[in-house]
Amino acid sequence: MNIVEEINKLKKQKNAIILVHNYQRPEIQDIADFLGDSLGLAREAAKTDARVIVFCGVRFMAETAKILSPEKMVLLPRKEAGCPMADMITAEDLRRLKKNYPDAKVVSYVNTNADVKAESDICCTSANAVKVVKNISAERIIFTPDKNLAAYCQRFVDKEIIPWNGYCYVHEKIREEEVCLAKEKFPDALLLVHPECNPSVIDLADEVLSTGGMVDFVKKSNKKKFLIGTEEGLIYRLKKENPEKEFYSAGTVKICRNQKLNTLNDVYFSLKEERYPIELAGGIIKSAQKALTEMLEYA
Ligand code: SF4
Repeated sequence: MNIVEEINKLKKQKNAIILVHNYQRPEIQDIADFLGDSLGLAREAAKTDARVIVFCGVRFMAETAKILSPEKMVLLPRKEAGCPMADMITAEDLRRLKKNYPDAKVVSYVNTNADVKAESDICCTSANAVKVVKNISAERIIFTPDKNLAAYCQRFVDKEIIPWNGYCYVHEKIREEEVCLAKEKFPDALLLVHPECNPSVIDLADEVLSTGGMVDFVKKSNKKKFLIGTEEGLIYRLKKENPEKEFYSAGTVKICRNQKLNTLNDVYFSLKEERYPIELAGGIIKSAQKALTEMLEYA
């Protein structure tokens, strides 16, 4: 029996599902029960009736699944798979900031640790951040942790957005100059970029979309060529689902080494030995759940 068959057998035995983020390795994407962006994965985690969720992504995503389904066992195959952007703000940092702006509401990107979510009024993903910021009943918003997503949201509202100074090291590496060169090389391609990119890159884009948004957009578009401004894992999915279309990186290939930690071997051992379970304090789950469920109701 090969490793994929072993994984499928264990999945049945344990009543488990495998949720996979769009930036994971191709062979992990291929074993997904659900493949998607943070919003799609959060929705899936909230509605599944499986006993065990194996989360192939980074820690904040597995924590989100645990917060939305606390009675389930949520496993992160590699315990060191964190997100550097999520680690750029602590709950203590946010408490301090809230004291400075007592009239502000806090919108936290899902790319935050559970205790930061617990200090927030509402969460958002890159798919619904603009909607959340527009609809929240506050004229002043603390936005954590991504300064680029905050700046992107600011384009759509007159409200005051106070950004935290975090960023994604992968999207930060996408530079305006290389994107311009890619556009020159493929003049008939549409440029799709993720809102975690720098404002100067966003200015060049034909569409600014979450990874799930890119998947939907490409499917419906009658264009044949696309330049993709996000982590390269998504390109594997886009090519697989749209074999008649062409996809190129908007510049050099950008890889999130944290997302790429999970291997098939890790998933196998995760299921076999039920490792590594996400454990969160009840109080954190309760407060963070409020911020997440409010987001799911909004958008
Ligand atoms: S791509 Fe960026 S935001 Fe996503 S997990 Fe990697 S470091 Fe975090």
